[in-house]
Amino acid sequence: MSEVGDRVDEVRAQIAAACADAGRDPAEVRLLAVSKTRPSSTVREAYDAGCRWFGENRLQELREKAGELSGLTDLSWSVIGHVQRNKAAVVVDLAAELQSLDSLELAADLDRRLAAAGRTLDVLVQVNTSGEATKSGLRPDEVEAFAESLQAYGRLVPKGLMTIALPSEDDREVAACFETLARVRDRLRDRYGSGWDDLSMGMSGDFRLAIAHGSTCVRIGSALFGPRA
Ligand SMILES: *Cc1c(COP(=O)(O)O)cnc(C)c1O
Repeated sequence: MSEVGDRVDEVRAQIAAACADAGRDPAEVRLLAVSKTRPSSTVREAYDAGCRWFGENRLQELREKAGELSGLTDLSWSVIGHVQRNKAAVVVDLAAELQSLDSLELAADLDRRLAAAGRTLDVLVQVNTSGEATKSGLRPDEVEAFAESLQAYGRLVPKGLMTIALPSEDDREVAACFETLARVRDRLRDRYGSGWDDLSMGMSGDFRLAIAHGSTCVRIGSALFGPRA
């Protein structure tokens, strides 16, 4: 098996171990392989090792790889980076999911294009749980009103919330971000009953902790593919 294949197996084993520690079923945690900056050949190796979800943050790069890998019809692309409104068409053409929804203007553009294309799009709302000015996403206290407004856009199917935790050596600070996201999600679930279940949280450095705090999707790049250039 390829080196990437070995790492996929290793990460899956770590996900399973973290689930066992938390008394959770590993089937509840989706592995999203973050393939940004990696060539299509690397995506292909991860696909051969069983990965079906791939995350990209630059739409030009997504377009190139989706073209090169269009034969893999059960591969799904997830957009995990900020989307400029003039790039909404690429999302509608190629993505199965957008995890970084952060504005109603973008929601409106996507909704209009989705209607024209006759499809829907699963969305997660990105929340800035760390308070860092450099991170995109809504403030936790903005999310409920945003979710309410989102109901106007029927082609967008709300699935949950996404966050990038504080990069910290202190697990308590990282966990506080995950707890914030789970709390906001719980409020949405109380209000809407369904549709806001997903918690996309946890990256290479913190996915075990995220799973302990209820993550349903871990976004993993460097642990699968090595350090990015
Ligand atoms: C790059 C990226 C990741 C993956 O980060 P790693 O530390 O390489 O696992 C996860 N989520 C988002 C939003 C990213 O941009």
